Amino acid sequence: MLLDPLQARLWLADALARGYAILAVNADSPAALTDCLEAARQAQAPIIIETSLWQLTGHSFGAGDPVRGLVRYLVQLSGLANAEPYREIPVIFHTDHIKGPETLRILGAAIRGVEANICGSEAKVFASTVSLDSSEMTEGENIARTSELCELARVAGRPLTIEMEAGVDAGVTEIEVAERLLAPVEETHPGCLYLWAPGVGTQHGLSDRGYPFSPDAVALHREKATAICGRPIGIALHGSSGLAASALREGVAAGVAKVNWSSESLLIRCQAAQEYFASRSAELQKSHPAWKATAMDHGLQAFVSARYVPKVIERIEILGGVGKACLPERC
Ligand SMILES: [Zn+2]
Repeated sequence: MLLDPLQARLWLADALARGYAILAVNADSPAALTDCLEAARQAQAPIIIETSLWQLTGHSFGAGDPVRGLVRYLVQLSGLANAEPYREIPVIFHTDHIKGPETLRILGAAIRGVEANICGSEAKVFASTVSLDSSEMTEGENIARTSELCELARVAGRPLTIEMEAGVDAGVTEIEVAERLLAPVEETHPGCLYLWAPGVGTQHGLSDRGYPFSPDAVALHREKATAICGRPIGIALHGSSGLAASALREGVAAGVAKVNWSSESLLIRCQAAQEYFASRSAELQKSHPAWKATAMDHGLQAFVSARYVPKVIERIEILGGVGKACLPERC
């Protein structure tokens, strides 16, 4: 089931309380959405599906228009998540790395909701949690833009669950930054912040070199953010693709509640597609009896899925998410 912003808070709190993190996959096609939900179903785990600007404007969704992309993304995701066999799986939809001049238009639509005609019934669908990319902003701009989102939600009468980021791509964020960024937003718009994304030594992308990942920084920032907001605030870990399983487990133990996964996920899917086409050049000749089945999208996507779903489950296992699809008080 696609969770609303209030339900999403329950799951983020549960992750912290029970010591696991929710995998957040940047899914860039309808087939990837299906695979992620299938992995979550098999693992009986909550999952976060997130989309960045490049996915909203990409060919599978917006084809140039990010708000059209948001509508298509939400229709696809809610149609899948709210139906069998995924109805019992908690699915959070998160907007990730939204930036540029259209930020407010995109996130405004995500917060106010978009019309989705699902199986003949009109319904509005909303983002569960929201964040914006502050990497090109000053601290003041980050606070102002985040506060604008809170105000927009207040005026719309909608709950808002925000991940605020420190806007760094490398290194470790000083603890004073948490105070400078989180406190003003919490003071003017209390109760919106539920995730904090400081730099903790990871980096976006894939690399063979070592990362100065710091579980101590995770613990320190979690403690500080929780103290500022007066409720449990989990750490959102960006740039997790290059981290070893042991480092991920240490991060979760220190207070990571959400782990973004994009680069490695993309590579697994892309390499599977490469293998599919490389091994089927004979079938893709028009004289071959199986050319049509081979050429159909389903042929490729079923092959990619068989390679990809086990990897997603493996990642969920590392983060301790297996079997956490039900809140303890409801099971
Ligand atoms: Zn990121």
